[in-house]
Amino acid sequence: MFDVIVVGAGPGGATTSTLMARKGLRVLMLDKASFPRDKICGDAVSGKSVDALKALGLIEHFQRDECLGSWGVTFSGPSGDEVEIPFTKALDRPIAPGFVCAREVFDDILVKLAVSEGVELRENTQVTGLLLDEQGAVNGVSIKDAEGHAHQIHAPLVIGADGAYSVVVRELGLDQLDEKHYVAGIRAYYKDVSGFNERNHIELHFVDEAIPGYFWIFPMADGMANVGVGMLSQVIKKKNIKLKSLLDLLVTHPRFSARFEGATQVGAMKGWGLPLGSKPRPMAGDGWMLIGDAASLIDPFTGEGIGNAMVSGMHAAEWAGKAHAEKRFDKAFLSDYGAEVLALLKDELRLSHAMQRLVNWKWLLNTVIRKAGRSEEIADAISCMFDDLEEREKLISPSFYMKVLFA
Ligand SMILES: Cc1cc2nc3c(=O)[nH]c(=O)nc-3n(C[C@H](O)[C@H](O)[C@H](O)COP(=O)(O)OP(=O)(O)OC[C@H]3O[C@@H](n4cnc5c(N)ncnc54)[C@H](O)[C@@H]3O)c2cc1C
Repeated sequence: MFDVIVVGAGPGGATTSTLMARKGLRVLMLDKASFPRDKICGDAVSGKSVDALKALGLIEHFQRDECLGSWGVTFSGPSGDEVEIPFTKALDRPIAPGFVCAREVFDDILVKLAVSEGVELRENTQVTGLLLDEQGAVNGVSIKDAEGHAHQIHAPLVIGADGAYSVVVRELGLDQLDEKHYVAGIRAYYKDVSGFNERNHIELHFVDEAIPGYFWIFPMADGMANVGVGMLSQVIKKKNIKLKSLLDLLVTHPRFSARFEGATQVGAMKGWGLPLGSKPRPMAGDGWMLIGDAASLIDPFTGEGIGNAMVSGMHAAEWAGKAHAEKRFDKAFLSDYGAEVLALLKDELRLSHAMQRLVNWKWLLNTVIRKAGRSEEIADAISCMFDDLEEREKLISPSFYMKVLFA
C-alpha cells in the first residue's frame, strides 16, 4: 500500500514526508507519540531552519504569538565579559531572522502540513523492528499499535527519522555510542527570567563550570524562557558531572542569580542526547535511509539539529523520488544520498568541530568575546558563525587569532 515508511514525525520526518507526498508518493509516517508533543530541545530556530521553512512554503505559519522573533545572540565568556551581536545588519526588516518556539508548537505545525499534503500519519504507534527480505534488504517495519497489538507493514523503502535513540539505527547495528561525538543536554522552562536584550537575543554563556559546553538562556513568548546546559559525554563521564546539579548551580551562579530571583521553574528539568555531526553515521543501505539525529547530524558547536534534520529530509525526499522512478532501492543507488548530504555539510561540521575544541582555550575565548565588543570584524565573524561558512572559516584560522590578540 505504501511507497515509503517514515519512522518518526519530528522536523526531519515531517519535512521528508511532506516533500515525498508532494511528489505523489504514498507515504506512511509513524510516531510513538501523539501530537502535539514535547521534544527536549533549546527551541531555537535559526538561519538554516528558517531557510528550510521558507523552501517548504511554511514560514508564514510561524509568524504567530507563540513564536518569539529573535534578532541576535549574546555571548559571555568565562571572565564574565559579554558581547551582543545582531544576526543581521538589516534591523528594519519586518521578520526576525530567527525565532524561539516550543517544539510542542513547532513540530505540530510541520506534522499538520504533512497530513494536509496527503501523508498518512499513525500516532501512538511504536516501531519495534525492521523487516528484511531474503537478500537482507529492509522492506518494512514491525509495529506496536495504539492498542498494543503487533503488526507488520511492508514498503520498499524505510526512512529512519526517529531521533537520538533511533530503533532503526539500533536494528541496523549502527548504534555504537562514541562519547567524543555525543553531547548530553538538560533543559528546563522558567517563567519571568529578567534582563533579556530588547531584541530577544538568544544567550550562550561560557561559564567555567560548564566548559567545554555552554549554559543557554533563550527568551520565549509569554514571559517564558528555555534554559539549559549541554556538555560532551566524554567530559561528563571523566569529571563525573551531574547535569541537573550543574543547571541548579548555574541559575544560582553570582553572574545570573539576579536574573532568576523573581523567576519560577515550570515543569521538570529533562535530559536528552545529541548525536553530533563530527561523526555522522552511514546514511543509506539496502532499502533504508537515515535523516536528522538518527544520522547523527547535530552541529558540534552550537548543538543545533533542527536545520540539518530538515535539510537531510529534503535530500532524502529527492532520492526517494528517484529510487521509485528507477525502481532502485539498493545500497549502491541510495548511497549517493548520503554522499550528497555529507558533501553539503562536511565543511560546516568540520569547522564547528574545530570551534568546539577551541572553547577549551578559556583565555582565548575571553579575549575574542572582550574584543568582539570593539571590533566589527570580530563581531561579524562571530555573528555569521551560524550560517556563513567563509566567515566561520576565519574562526579556526591562526591569523584571525593573531589579529584578535593584537587588535
Ligand atoms: C537539550 C537539547 C537542546 C537542543 N537545542 C536545540 C536548539 O535550540 N536548536 C536546534 O536546532 N536544535 C537543538 N537540539 C537538537 C534538536 O532537538 C534535534 O536535532 C532535532 O529534534 C532532530 O530532529 P529529528 O526529526 O531528527 O528527530 P526528533 O525531533 O527527535 O524526532 C524523532 C521522532 O521520532 C519518534 N520516535 C522515536 N522512536 C520511535 C519509534 N520506535 N517508533 C515511532 N516513533 C519513534 C519520536 O517520538 C519523535 O517524534 C537540541 C537537542 C537537545 C537534546
